[in-house]
Amino acid sequence: MQHFTKAEIRQIDDLYQEFMKVIKAKFDRERVERIEKAFKFSNAAHDGIKRKSGEPFILHPLSVAIIVAKDMGLGATTICASILHDVVEDTEYSISDIKNMFGPRVAVIVDGLTKLSGDFESKQALSLKKILMTLSEDVRVILIKIADRLHNMRTLDSMEPQKKIKIAGETLYLFVPLAHRLGLYAIKSELEELSFKYKHPEEYNRILLMLHNQEEKRNYLVNEFIRPIKEKLESENIESTVTHRLKSTYSIWQKMKTKGVTFNEIYDILAVRIIIKTRQGISEKRQCFDVLSLVTDIYKPHPDRIRDWITMPKANGYESLHVTVMGPQGKWVEVQIRTERMDEVAEYGFAAHYRYKDISTFENELDTWIARIREQLRSQDSDAFEFLDDFKLNLYATEINVFTPNGDMISMPLGSTVVDFAYEIHTDLGNKCIGAKINLKLVPISHVLNNGDQVEILTSEKQVPQLEWLEFATTAKARTKIKNAFKLKKKEHIEKGKEIVEEAMKQVKAPITSNNLKKLISHFNLNNKEQLYSELGMGFLELGNLNEIIGKKSPNKLVKYWNITFSRKKKAEDQNDLSDLKKIDKGKPFLLKENQDNVTYSLAKCCNPIPGDEVIGYIGADDHVIIHKTGCKEVEKLLSSHGNRIITAEWTRFKKQSYLTRLRLEGFDRIGIVNEVTNVISKQNSINMRSVKFDTHEGIFEGDLFLYIHDAEHLNNLISKLEKIRGIENVSRDENLND
Ligand code: MN
Repeated sequence: MQHFTKAEIRQIDDLYQEFMKVIKAKFDRERVERIEKAFKFSNAAHDGIKRKSGEPFILHPLSVAIIVAKDMGLGATTICASILHDVVEDTEYSISDIKNMFGPRVAVIVDGLTKLSGDFESKQALSLKKILMTLSEDVRVILIKIADRLHNMRTLDSMEPQKKIKIAGETLYLFVPLAHRLGLYAIKSELEELSFKYKHPEEYNRILLMLHNQEEKRNYLVNEFIRPIKEKLESENIESTVTHRLKSTYSIWQKMKTKGVTFNEIYDILAVRIIIKTRQGISEKRQCFDVLSLVTDIYKPHPDRIRDWITMPKANGYESLHVTVMGPQGKWVEVQIRTERMDEVAEYGFAAHYRYKDISTFENELDTWIARIREQLRSQDSDAFEFLDDFKLNLYATEINVFTPNGDMISMPLGSTVVDFAYEIHTDLGNKCIGAKINLKLVPISHVLNNGDQVEILTSEKQVPQLEWLEFATTAKARTKIKNAFKLKKKEHIEKGKEIVEEAMKQVKAPITSNNLKKLISHFNLNNKEQLYSELGMGFLELGNLNEIIGKKSPNKLVKYWNITFSRKKKAEDQNDLSDLKKIDKGKPFLLKENQDNVTYSLAKCCNPIPGDEVIGYIGADDHVIIHKTGCKEVEKLLSSHGNRIITAEWTRFKKQSYLTRLRLEGFDRIGIVNEVTNVISKQNSINMRSVKFDTHEGIFEGDLFLYIHDAEHLNNLISKLEKIRGIENVSRDENLND
């Protein structure tokens, strides 16, 4: 066996000394000796072995043990198990060796860790269940597993790029929610930050840079903000520490993504924390509320932003009082108020109870929680899923269980359709699928499955895979099978399509020149000749008005922007549904015209589109078309359930009519701002006001405007003019016209 160099041995010793400092401060002699023994054994077992990074392997279990001891505050048994956690997996020693040397309690934990290891990669669904099972046996196994992952994330740099992304994804997916549920706030945040850094390095660096650019301004602001609070706390003789922290880059990124806001629009980047040294004789809750009233004497609170997690602690045990107040310079600042004990619980979760020797409460809570998991795992009803949602584990939140007619359970991703299910069971069943019977009701092939559905696939010998199935097939398996079926036939389709073109050209006596083909390709918004032939061959396109297409010049592309055909969404008709969809030609965009004799469409009330908005149509009963904005939430639903009824739509030029639209304004109040806003609007002669409402409170200015507007271009003009008014921070269109 190869031994370590002097420098490596020194490296091990340095870390070991750091570790022993923590241990000796916490434990009695007997425990310290047990831990020393575990280290010596592990160190000898891993002797000469190195990690991918080239460092001695023992540095890994030792670092994990430091996390377990210092950051989680766990006991001697757990610390011993964490030093030994890779021994059985990676060396000659067995579980019975561990049991003989360190007793059954340490051995059980090491055994649990060995069984869990290396398993996350392939079947995540299985491993999560395994984790929860283990969790219900001994939560310490999971705590060590989280510490193990944290150290692996800290040292991820030495991994290959592919592995980095994979491990980071898995961490976000599995370990972050677990750390959250166990209330390990600091560890959860660090895991999130590290995963974000490796998964999205560009975004991570961009946010880091923006935070850095603001640093000076922010430091000034925070000092100005804290000073009067500190003075007041001192004069009231309340012993406390006031700190401040930045929102993590990961949560900034999340907020930008989910709320669609820019970096500058996030108002709670900064949080100030007041940690009160608990006084005897007064309840902790009372002490926190006293400080709250002291803070709100200085700064005005936002009425909707007081959160009391002391009266009603979060599920993971978090207790704190949060209030958002208006600081100097008109910036909102979040203030968190809590006692020292609450702060420890917030940072270290359940493990914090150990530090306060409140082990009885801790174990009671934990026992109840674990008993619940055990029970839920045993019963397979739908409530078990609600329970798992509670964990915020994406995996279960996005999985459903459905059943075959024989009662076999199949797990599918949330959003799976009948065709996904058919392919999940068998390729032939997928290829021949025409629909399904769910709980005895007939449903089309695009139907989205619900948790608990019993699905009987209906087939027809005449059925063949259709390309448009790809629009509602969501599982990788179904999509691959459908695409494969088409690859086999592509040649045939191209041949057939070519014949169709030749025949049609012959009929209108036009030559097959590359120029004419180009006109066809651009008419159908395709990319190339091959695509034209194959789509014709498959019957997705029809050459109805060939003369018109090739006879005239290609359409002028510089017409007003709403006259350009938006992306072509070709939908072949669903066989089951053909009867009432005959009259509308779905190969062409549906034209929206002003003042038609008989109105054949209406504008959806959910998103209230106006001329110029990018829109699509939904063909309802009697060929009546309902027009939605393409980004409307309803459209997403319609696309998955009635994809065959969606057509592209475009506006012809609208002149006369006006449409009611709503704008919301936000900003900082100043004298004359209302005047300026109404001036800007009345100067636009294409726009009329129906009603305007302005409101200011605590320096914040809000406007709610109902306007009559001709089209999106006018509206966008107005918005950019309003945005230029000093004090206005945000102007947005509100699609909801109801109060
Ligand atoms: Mn490990």
